[in-house]
Amino acid sequence: MSDATTKETMQFETEVGQLLHLMIHSLYSNKEIFMRELISNASDACDKLRFAALADDKLMADDPDLRIEVEFDKDARTITVRDNGIGMNRDEVISNIGTIAKSGTAEFLKNLTGDQAKDSHLIGQFGVGFYSSFIVAEKVTLRTRRAGEPADAAVQWESTGESGYSIEPITKETRGTEVILHLREDEDEFLDGWRLRSIIRKYSDHVPLPIRMRKEDKPDGEWETVNKANALWTLPKNEISDEEYKEFYKHVAHDFEDPLAWTHNRVEGKYEYTSLLYIPSKAPFDLYEPKQSHGVKLYVQRVFIMEDNENLMPRYLRFIRGVLDSNDLPLNVSREILQSNRVIENMKSGSVKKILGLLESMAKNDPEKYATFWKEFGKVMKEGPVEDSSNREQVLKLLRYASTLNDSDAQTVSLEDYVSRMKEGQDKIYYITADSYNAAKNSPHLEVFKKKGIEVLLMFDRVDEWMMGFISEFDGKSFQSVAKGELDLSKIKTEESEEDKKKHKQEEKAAKKILKKLKKALDEKVEDVRLSERLTDSPSCIVLSEYDMALYMQQLMKQAGQEVPTSKPVLEINPSHPIIKRMEEEKDDERFNGWAQLLLDQAILSEGGQLEDPAGFVHRMNDMMLTLSK
Ligand code: ADP
Ligand code: MG
Repeated sequence: MSDATTKETMQFETEVGQLLHLMIHSLYSNKEIFMRELISNASDACDKLRFAALADDKLMADDPDLRIEVEFDKDARTITVRDNGIGMNRDEVISNIGTIAKSGTAEFLKNLTGDQAKDSHLIGQFGVGFYSSFIVAEKVTLRTRRAGEPADAAVQWESTGESGYSIEPITKETRGTEVILHLREDEDEFLDGWRLRSIIRKYSDHVPLPIRMRKEDKPDGEWETVNKANALWTLPKNEISDEEYKEFYKHVAHDFEDPLAWTHNRVEGKYEYTSLLYIPSKAPFDLYEPKQSHGVKLYVQRVFIMEDNENLMPRYLRFIRGVLDSNDLPLNVSREILQSNRVIENMKSGSVKKILGLLESMAKNDPEKYATFWKEFGKVMKEGPVEDSSNREQVLKLLRYASTLNDSDAQTVSLEDYVSRMKEGQDKIYYITADSYNAAKNSPHLEVFKKKGIEVLLMFDRVDEWMMGFISEFDGKSFQSVAKGELDLSKIKTEESEEDKKKHKQEEKAAKKILKKLKKALDEKVEDVRLSERLTDSPSCIVLSEYDMALYMQQLMKQAGQEVPTSKPVLEINPSHPIIKRMEEEKDDERFNGWAQLLLDQAILSEGGQLEDPAGFVHRMNDMMLTLSK
C-alpha cells in the first residue's frame, strides 16, 4: 500500500523512461514547444474546472477569474507556469503524470522515425506533452491542489526525468497547478521576459484565457496579460491571418502540424452560432479506437462548456477539430442535454454541410490536397454513406477507389468518373471487394471485364465489403459485385465480334454433358454449376449470392469468433479452358471427381477463402502432378 502522508519515491513505467530519454536527447530542434504544452495543459485544466463548476458552483466561487501565469526567476534559474484550474489529487498525479497508462505512449514510440523534426511533431499528437518540460529542465516540480479540496490536501511531484519521481503531501494556499522548471545549464536563453512573451504570443495568442506575466520593470508587482486572449472564432474572417488560423488549430486540436483546411462561419437565422472547423493533415493515432481522446469544443457565448467527440459530429467525421459556439444554449448545458437537443442537432447538421462543402471544393480545385486527405481519412469517410443517410449522395461523391483502368493501387477514381465512362447499354456500377489490392486486381472475376474493356472498381479496404452491403445505388445506377449473383453483360455494347458470340453458343451446347457430371460430383458442396460469362483465362470461379459476404470477409469474421451465415456458392466454369476440355474426355469417374474438387478448391483459394480440407487438396494436387509426369 502506498502511504499518502509521507514522501515517497516511485519508478516510471519503462515506456515513460524511454520517452523521457528521447525528449532529453533528441528533441533539441524546437525546444520552445515546452511552453505551448504547459499552457495547453493549464488551459485544459481551466476548461475542466469550468465544466465541473456547472454542476457545483462552489468549486470556482472563491476565485472565478480563470487565468494562466508565467514567471521566471533569474537567480534560481526557474520558469513557473501556473493555473487556477481543476488541479489534481494524489491519485490523479500518479495516474496522469507518473504512469501514463495511456495507449498513446507506446504508440508514440512505435511511430518514431529517428528524424528529429518529424518526431517532435508527434509529441503533441500522442498526448505526452507534459514530458516536453524535460527538454529544457533538469528537474521539474509540480505542485497541485484539486478544486474543492482543502489546502493541506495538496501534493508535490518532482522528477529529474531519469528513472522515477517523488511525491509528497504539501500545503498549497490556492487551487490549481504550478509547474516549476529548473533549467538545464545551457538553457538560460529562456530566462528572458522578452523571449518568453514572444513564445507565448507565437503559440498561444488566441487561447481564450488571459496568460499573464509580471510587468518587465516590476518583477514582483503588477501582472499584465501578454496574449490577445480573444476567442479567434469571434473575429471577422478578414482580420484573421492564415498563420493565426494555423496556430489556433494547434491549440484546439492538440496537434503540432498545420491543418489541411478549415471553414469558418457565422450562422444567423433561427439558431445563431459560429463554427470554426478544421481538417487535420494527419490522422490521429486513435482514429480507429472506439473512443477518441479529442473532439470538437463546444462554447456557449464564448464560455467553454466541453470537448465532445460523440454528439457534435457524426462518427465518420470524428477527425474534425475546432470550435462550435452557440448563442442559443443555456450556459449550464449538460452532457445529457447534448444528446437530444434541437440546437445541437441544428449546429451539427449545419457543420456537416460545411465540411462536406469544403471537401467538395478541395476535391475539385486542389486534387493533390484531396489525395492527401483521402490517404489519411478515406477509410473513415467510407462509413459516411451508411451512417449519414441524409447526406448519402453527397458523401458518395467524395469517395475514391482504385480501378481496373489504372495500373496502381492509388484510390483516385470517383463514382462520377466511373459513371461518365460507362459503356453504352451499361446500367450498373461494377466493383469487386478483396482483402488486398493484388487479390482484387488478379481476381478471375475480372477476366471478361478486362477483355471487354468494362471498368471495375477495385475495393480492398476492410470497410468496403461492409459498406457495399448497405449501399444499393449511386446516381440511379445500381452497384453490382462482379463476384456475386448472375452476370448479364449482353446489353453492353463492346467490340466483341459476332464470331465470338457464335463460338460461345457452340460451347454452351457442347458443355451440357460436363455440367451435369460436375453437378453430380460436387452436389453436396455447391448450389449449382454453370457456364461462366466472367472467365477468359481461368478454368473456374466461385460466385456468391448477392446477399452473401465475400469469402475473405467470412474468413475474418470466423477468425474473430463470429458466426457467419452462409449459403452454398455457385461454381462457374470456363468451357474454352484446356483443363475443362481435357475433363470432357475423362472416362475414369474417380479421376473426374478429383479434378472437379480441384476446380472448386482453387476457385475458393483465389477468393481468399479457406479450404475445409487443405490436406485433401494437396493430396489431389500431388496425384495430378504424378499423372502428368507419367
Ligand atoms: P494531454 O494534455 O494530451 O492529456 P499531457 O502529457 O500534456 O497530455 O498531460 C497529461 C495529463 O496530466 C493531462 O491529461 C492532465 O490530466 C494532467 N495535467 C497536466 N497538466 C495539468 C494541469 N496544469 N492541471 C491539471 N492537470 C494537468
Ligand atoms: Mg497536454
